[in-house]
Amino acid sequence: MHYNILTLFPEMVENGLNTSIIGRAVAKGILSVDAINIRDYTKEKHGHVDDAPYGGGAGMVMQAAPVCDAYEELCRRLGRRPRVLYMTPQGMVFSQSIARELAKEEDLVFLCGHYEGIDERALELIVTDSLSIGDYVLTGGELPAMVMIDCISRLIPGVLGSDLSAEIESFHDNLLEYPQYTRPEVYEGMRVPEVLLSGHHKRIEEWRRRESIRRTLERRPDLLAQANLSRKEQEYLKELLDAIPDSRQPEQGEIPE
Ligand code: SAM
Repeated sequence: MHYNILTLFPEMVENGLNTSIIGRAVAKGILSVDAINIRDYTKEKHGHVDDAPYGGGAGMVMQAAPVCDAYEELCRRLGRRPRVLYMTPQGMVFSQSIARELAKEEDLVFLCGHYEGIDERALELIVTDSLSIGDYVLTGGELPAMVMIDCISRLIPGVLGSDLSAEIESFHDNLLEYPQYTRPEVYEGMRVPEVLLSGHHKRIEEWRRRESIRRTLERRPDLLAQANLSRKEQEYLKELLDAIPDSRQPEQGEIPE
């Protein structure tokens, strides 16, 4: 996978992505990260890439020409026109399933805005997908691009030590992951669940699936509608649901609805 990041702050993404697992995958040649400085494409003599918004208002807007010129030059170099993902709080919220779809691409371009964002005409000309990392506003698109690159990269064969690691994590099958434990067996009087010490692989797998279902019901019940459960697991979910009291008693001092 070749990541191309159009940004005003290339050192931010280069520093952020050159460490740990992603850094090692870059060193091994499984991934490449090319941070392209949009400022290198300005034709203004003072190196400006932004200007005041037409119609007035606070802040500055990134101009269309340097953004489009940086992308067109990249396309000429690659000999193809890769998907352009614009980082924006107005986009579709990034998820594990979007990451799975993007991991199939050969090249991706991440377009990072700054200030009040980018002139709409550049977005109309080059952007194929608008993506957000959540309903809050950051100062720039660099952190969202790094979040998405980290997540997508874990799904690319060879990036993680074991490719199974990415398969059985949270959001696999629309369930959260089961609780994990490591040595020692007892910590602060709390024992590791007995079944995990049994060496009985089938029982361990069953316990983990049940814990995943229980935890998803407690923390992210919205995911369960799309979860792929066996008949036995559906019965277990029903047992858990039946154990939840129909109407919660108001706490002392709480105003009942
Ligand atoms: N004026 C824009 C708006 O209200 O939609 C927000 C601009 S924001 C201050 C500057 C840049 O940060 C955006 O162009 C975008 O690239 C990035 N950004 C901010 N929040 C983001 C989020 N939640 N997800 C993805 N990118 C974000």
